[in-house]
Amino acid sequence: MKIIVAESAGFCWGVRRAMEKTLELAEKEKSKSIHTLGPLIHNKQAVNFLSSRGVKEAQLSDNLQDGTVIIRAHGTTPEMLDDLKKRGITVLNATCPRVGKVQALIKGHLAKGYTIIIVGDIGHAEVKSLMGYAQGNAKLIQTSDQAETLPDFDKAIVVSQTTIDQKTFDDIANVLREKVKDLKVFCTICDSTSKRQDEAKKLASKVDCMIIVGGHHSANTTRLAEISRRFCENVYHIETEAELRNIDVHPFRTVGVSAGASTPNWIINSVVQALRFKDREKAFAFHVFGWMFYCGIFRSLAALFLCAGIQITFSLPQSWKFPLIAFLYLFSVTNLNGIVSGDTLLFSDPTRFHFVQSRRRNLSILSIFSIFALLLLGLTLSLFGLGLLLLAVILGLLYRIRVGIGGRPFRIFDIPGSKNLLHGLAWSIVIAAIPMLAHHIHSPVSLILGSGLVFLIVFSGTVLFDFKDYQGDRFAGKETLPILLGRHRAAQIVLWSMVAIALFLSGLAFTSGRIEQAIVLTVTSIYSLLVFIHYSSKGTIPSDGQFEIVVDGIALAPLFVSLVLLIFTKTP
Ligand code: SF4
Repeated sequence: MKIIVAESAGFCWGVRRAMEKTLELAEKEKSKSIHTLGPLIHNKQAVNFLSSRGVKEAQLSDNLQDGTVIIRAHGTTPEMLDDLKKRGITVLNATCPRVGKVQALIKGHLAKGYTIIIVGDIGHAEVKSLMGYAQGNAKLIQTSDQAETLPDFDKAIVVSQTTIDQKTFDDIANVLREKVKDLKVFCTICDSTSKRQDEAKKLASKVDCMIIVGGHHSANTTRLAEISRRFCENVYHIETEAELRNIDVHPFRTVGVSAGASTPNWIINSVVQALRFKDREKAFAFHVFGWMFYCGIFRSLAALFLCAGIQITFSLPQSWKFPLIAFLYLFSVTNLNGIVSGDTLLFSDPTRFHFVQSRRRNLSILSIFSIFALLLLGLTLSLFGLGLLLLAVILGLLYRIRVGIGGRPFRIFDIPGSKNLLHGLAWSIVIAAIPMLAHHIHSPVSLILGSGLVFLIVFSGTVLFDFKDYQGDRFAGKETLPILLGRHRAAQIVLWSMVAIALFLSGLAFTSGRIEQAIVLTVTSIYSLLVFIHYSSKGTIPSDGQFEIVVDGIALAPLFVSLVLLIFTKTP
């Protein structure tokens, strides 16, 4: 079974903006009363999650008297805004600017004496807000038949709810052109909606089955399902992966997945994962994939090969011990972190969360066994080497532990960017510093080059994973660099830091006459930079294994380049 996920599936720009504003506020004002006016988005799971973060849902009729009220992306009426301000309530207006534009159009034309015609769903929150700006004088219609029944006006404007179907709006506008002398047509359907609907049409016409994910009360998700039904016989509108249990997808060779503007990524990912599990033909392949990518085997192998690459690049005697230490270290640290990460992993990578949690016992045994094997190998090192290894274990694992400082709980993990720096440092110690020192390489230049190369690869890779997990981390309240600095600024800062480190390392290698090491460093740096630019510029990064292969695969570059150099320099 082939599963195709629509690129436009998930939060639209306006919903993401409202969600981010809300999460920022919840983080900043933990002890204050925060309410959203109605559900922030039409998604039960996201609303429940917000509630667990202290953001409660209030109704228009609730007589709130203090705290902050968040206006959702659909907007509200001007009367409600005035009323809240009069009551002394702080208002955080997260109305989507595109909805704000429709409100302004209505307000401006009402003042010029135009009749306002709105094409939209009765009772929809956005329509209620638009009606408010028309001061109750708007005509609300949904079909071209209703347009026929309207009286003839001298001058009128017609606007649309931002999420309605394009064809419905065009049909209505055509009828109105015949009836109104001075008609201004403003198609205010949001391009994010039309793009999502167009993609759903195309996808539905080429697959055997369409799964539309999103709240049953979400108008835009329901519309997406309706549109898909015009092009595909088997369309299912589900809220979560639990509803997939009642659907037999086995007869279908291709399944398309799309989702409404209010569906969080973690729910879409859970559905895709459940579909993959249901796909019996590929179940074995999926389990192999899971062990490779979700249980860190691929990453541990990358560390093993990176260590082998360092041995060749720095002309160390070839030894199995240090690559094995690198493998055991990465395997145990990755899995023990995954096992204790709880909600954080659930929101950022639900597929990995479920995979790891369902194998919790076996993974714990294997990880603890790996730690013991690691420490046994550590005993064969010098006292200093063993000390470095223990430091790396602490950096990789124990930095999640909370300690009380001045009566307040603190853990290094909560310092923004600490994860990226500490992982870079820990990998550098295990993969470069320990084998080099064990082989009596004490030259500061070699140690800087070896550790710097590993740091560069790991630092850029971990930040890219933060870009991938951006939405889930936001939900989980994690402060990663992209969340703290914004995606664009974080990408710029990390990119320029990488350029600076790469120039410094390559320059140092060339000026100290280490030409082969300089070539390895330059090629690896250019490859890391290109991968970073490619993925950091993407709005969303799919969790399909390809990303993991490319990003963790950078670790193979030094080995590959060193082997090529070895072959060419040994050729007579
Ligand atoms: S669908 Fe468009 S108008 Fe509506 S909230 Fe999203 S971005 Fe804004």
